[in-house]
Amino acid sequence: MSGQTAAEQRVVDAAQAFVAQHVAPHAQAWDRGQADSRTALPAAAAAGLLGIEVPVAHGGLGLSFSCKRRVAEVLAGADFGLAMSVVNTHNVAHHLARMATPDVARRWVPALVSGARTGCTALTEPGAGSDFSAITTRAHRVGDGWQLDGRKAWIVNGTHADVVVVYAQTEPGSGARGIAAFVVDGTRNGFVREAPADSTAARGIDAGGFLLQGYRASADELLHPPGEAFKAALASINGARAYVAAMCCGMVQESLRVAGAHGEQRHTFGKPLHDHQGWRWSLADAAIDLAAARLMVDAAAALIDGGGDAQMAAAQAKVFATRMAGRHIAALMHAMGAEGLREQHPLLRHLVAAQVATLTDGSTEMLLDRVARGLRHAG
Ligand SMILES: Cc1cc2nc3c(=O)[nH]c(=O)nc-3n(C[C@H](O)[C@H](O)[C@H](O)COP(=O)(O)OP(=O)(O)OC[C@H]3O[C@@H](n4cnc5c(N)ncnc54)[C@H](O)[C@@H]3O)c2cc1C
Repeated sequence: MSGQTAAEQRVVDAAQAFVAQHVAPHAQAWDRGQADSRTALPAAAAAGLLGIEVPVAHGGLGLSFSCKRRVAEVLAGADFGLAMSVVNTHNVAHHLARMATPDVARRWVPALVSGARTGCTALTEPGAGSDFSAITTRAHRVGDGWQLDGRKAWIVNGTHADVVVVYAQTEPGSGARGIAAFVVDGTRNGFVREAPADSTAARGIDAGGFLLQGYRASADELLHPPGEAFKAALASINGARAYVAAMCCGMVQESLRVAGAHGEQRHTFGKPLHDHQGWRWSLADAAIDLAAARLMVDAAAALIDGGGDAQMAAAQAKVFATRMAGRHIAALMHAMGAEGLREQHPLLRHLVAAQVATLTDGSTEMLLDRVARGLRHAG
């Protein structure tokens, strides 16, 4: 890929080595709940994956968004859940390094980049997902600080994260205008973790929820004041949409590799599956759409790196890539016959993950609306 520095290529190479040694051999056990993916975090940290965009002054690598997007694709090829988990902790470190007070950043960023702590970002609630401005988690002033009360649900790393960016309403009825963001310590009184959702999709990605009951945040733990938090969430969401699209590309790439290998060794009617024209066309279709999705992701990533307006490009890339992944992973499983259903292959996990990808960081319908609004303004 053009425009990539030697330092960035080293991180992508390190991600590939990390996947081969620490992710691919364990992903099936993580998915079944038989092992804990957090055991891979020290190796992820050693490879630099928890600090790619984090400034060097805060212990990170200070590299580009495009580098993170490439790493996300590599990680998700082996396990979408681990990829989301790593990227979400990384994002909290990056967010705090840019927006927190120096004291708060010093308290948390090195611990996140080293994998000693994990992070998550909590917007969604049991009663508010797509309609983010309808959140009811309440923040009100107490002395110099704040008290937070409410419930968050379906949060990546929510089963264990202890550095939590929480969005809360300061003025009920004011919608987006009243929303503020806080950094919350998951080990402090008033933070109560809930049992994870009973779902394969939630288990693989460590998704869970928590209650805030009289949780006290100090004044310097306010990350974005009312009026700025909603805009800040929207500003970072283009990156999330682009890397989720990249993760879909990684899952299709790996599914293609596994189905292709199966087609070479499985024989029907006296020859390998791959020698049947009708069979190999399903692989060709997947490869063509994968190439198109990657170009869309690269276009969005280039805009993000250049500080351009990536709203349309990121929304288009995510809609296209998630649909592409859902369609082609299912087709590639089918191309493997019953063998494609075995849990030793990643396709079934990837298919569930492709469904999750249609919801996180803006559902398909929200993104279609984003694109439609962009078309209108373009005239
Ligand atoms: C595994 C997993 C991990 C997640 N991780 C996080 C996280 O880390 N942090 C976080 O804050 N959230 C997270 N989420 C939540 C995710 O952002 C929400 O699921 C998403 O915003 C959709 O909200 P909802 O599920 O409440 O669906 P709803 O908002 O109830 O919508 C239901 C369906 O209706 C559609 N819909 C809603 N409104 C409209 C409309 N106006 N027009 C047309 N269609 C509409 C939606 O697209 C969706 O298909 C996660 C979700 C999952 C499944």
